[in-house]
Amino acid sequence: MQQADLGPAYLEEKEEVIIKKIAQRKNELGDKLLILGHHYQQEAIFQFADLVGDSLKLASAASREKSPFIVFCGVHFMAESADILTLDNQTVILPDLRAGCPMADMAVIDEVEDSWQDLTGVVAGASIVPVTYVNSSAKIKAFVGENGGSVCTSSNAERVLTWALAKGDKVFFFPDEHLGRNSAYALGIPEDEVVLWKRDRYLGGNTVEQLRKARVILWDGYCTVHMQFTADQVDMWRQKDPKIKIIVHPECRHEVVSKADVYGSTETIINSIAKSPAGSSWAVGTEINLVNRLSKQYPDKSIHSLSPFQCLCSTMYRIKPGYLLWVLDHLAEGRIVNRITVDHDTAERAKLSLNRMLEI
Ligand code: SF4
Repeated sequence: MQQADLGPAYLEEKEEVIIKKIAQRKNELGDKLLILGHHYQQEAIFQFADLVGDSLKLASAASREKSPFIVFCGVHFMAESADILTLDNQTVILPDLRAGCPMADMAVIDEVEDSWQDLTGVVAGASIVPVTYVNSSAKIKAFVGENGGSVCTSSNAERVLTWALAKGDKVFFFPDEHLGRNSAYALGIPEDEVVLWKRDRYLGGNTVEQLRKARVILWDGYCTVHMQFTADQVDMWRQKDPKIKIIVHPECRHEVVSKADVYGSTETIINSIAKSPAGSSWAVGTEINLVNRLSKQYPDKSIHSLSPFQCLCSTMYRIKPGYLLWVLDHLAEGRIVNRITVDHDTAERAKLSLNRMLEI
């Protein structure tokens, strides 16, 4: 499915006019509509969200709501998770179909299945448990579910990894190398037992001996936003302000996470800053829209981006007010556009991996 061209009425109109029209449509649609807003959305969209949060929190919250139309202001894999977790009579809509997640797109099901076969072939006799970060496609979640593994989030990755290592000899972790590595090191797994599986290399670029010794095998996916934070930026802030606290997301490289005072999910970042005393200063290693929002929300604290450059999630940023209005106009006229659906079989297998995480 391709994103339709919206035309000048949506793309060239002044933002304040579009914003007024969104408010009118939202009012008209009332309880039939639920707008979900991810923390990384721009303010022009975020202000219309009925529920805000990270991807899994939003998808689970949507499953407890009755609204028939759920407009997910996030990226594609999030809308898929919402479709898996909501009822059949609920419709999930993504305002711009081009809003994908580069990290999720780095784990393509055919490549993952081929790599799994290669790996199981060379470590015959060892049991491998697949774990996937929630930032992955429904097909990857389904693959993990049917192979006895679990989904994890950035808040529970260490707990899920502990469970997986107790269940099997090795873990194959998708798609984020950095969340996997940070979690493995936090559990005390030695560096030579954590290896990287490079997608374009035979056996991921590893020797058979390395794979036999490894306990955690990391898929080489990464977040294009969190990769922009560096250890030098941490040093720069500490030099500038010795009292500053550095807080980063675990999708950042290990050298950044290991230098930070705190690391954790978006919810951890928000709560840590909220609870800190007035006058505290923070350099934050996560997406710029969230950093700017926190800075406005807590004017009594000094909150900066860790990076001097704008670390923006450009695909999340595709959800612009014109696109939100376009889907709402269609809904108000009884038409559904940009519906995200996961087929029944994939959804059932993906639910296995999601439910396993909830049990853990
Ligand atoms: S911030 Fe990173 S992981 Fe999140 S949607 Fe954007 S690219 Fe994907």
